[in-house]
Amino acid sequence: MIPEKAELPLQVDLERIRRQAWTAPPAPTLDEATRQALRARIKRLLEERNAVLVAHYYVDEELQSLADETGGCVSDSLEMARFGHAHPAETIVVAGVRFMGETAKILNPEKRVLMPTLQAECSLDLSCPADAFSAFCDQHPDRTVVVYANTSAEVKARADWVVTSSIAVKVVEHLHARGEKILWAPDRYLGAYVEEVTGADMILWQGSCIVHDEFRADALRKLKAEHPEAAVLVHPESPPDVIALADVVGSTTQIIQAAKDLPNKVFIVATDRGIFYKMKEVAPDKTFIEAPTGGLAASCGSCAHCPWMAMNGLTNLAEALEQDGPEHEIHVDPEVGREARKSIKRMLDFAESLKVQATGEANVASPA
Ligand code: SF4
Repeated sequence: MIPEKAELPLQVDLERIRRQAWTAPPAPTLDEATRQALRARIKRLLEERNAVLVAHYYVDEELQSLADETGGCVSDSLEMARFGHAHPAETIVVAGVRFMGETAKILNPEKRVLMPTLQAECSLDLSCPADAFSAFCDQHPDRTVVVYANTSAEVKARADWVVTSSIAVKVVEHLHARGEKILWAPDRYLGAYVEEVTGADMILWQGSCIVHDEFRADALRKLKAEHPEAAVLVHPESPPDVIALADVVGSTTQIIQAAKDLPNKVFIVATDRGIFYKMKEVAPDKTFIEAPTGGLAASCGSCAHCPWMAMNGLTNLAEALEQDGPEHEIHVDPEVGREARKSIKRMLDFAESLKVQATGEANVASPA
């Protein structure tokens, strides 16, 4: 196993991706009158276009609140796609990053999927180009290919399974119990975490999230000492020494749930600060503190907030609905979409089977 890891091609140019990320232009700050006018216009356009707005936890709270107010949803990438599937609207407007729009399109090929900007990338997706990844898979035909949701449609199509951070451990445990060896991509930290928890035989692609990569264990230890009453909530895209300091390691949805369920009144949170909007909503009497990042030594311009998520704003959201054109519409090759859907559906069916085991209830059909 170790020699195989040593042979991994270091094909991921993370420095270049980091530089690209921190030059992404954030959505403009608006004066109050413009804000209100745009919110009213977007509400009207959503109705006129028979569209629903789904927003990720990491986008600006302006868009999260608008999604809530207009009957849309705020959630993680998979739930965004599932919600869009179940909703009767003909058009899904995705406020997030490009792979989220693609996932929505993969699960809803019959619907139109629009985004405020198609330039909103993700370093995990960028670090895993489909050709190089496919060649890597070809070198390891004995391994089951498991990819994280933060990947392109083509990479999902090449995979056997797509997983989200909330179910990655369960899926790999299941495969490990069946004696399968895993090829994991693209997040090296989430992969290492899953490997450690499950004991599975995994080789890891070397991508990382440029936001979570900036959390620092030394500074977190100091902050914990200043707030001994605080629980530390960490997303597993963070470095291993940061994960080691966590009271709870979990996906975005699991972190929000922990804020609600744990008795602590103070939380130190190592994930994108966009999540604070929902955390404050579910636990309004609690205090949330951003986990420390690299500070002056960091490569980021706005640590703990994804620069690509920050590109989503009211102005380009209104444009997407108004123009209803190719600069905002997500397309996925139908054949690629069909293959990617199989890998996603495997996870959705597995998730349903876990619910059945836990509750004994009848299975519920997943979007396919
Ligand atoms: S926060 Fe990280 S994983 Fe999420 S979209 Fe941004 S770069 Fe990708």
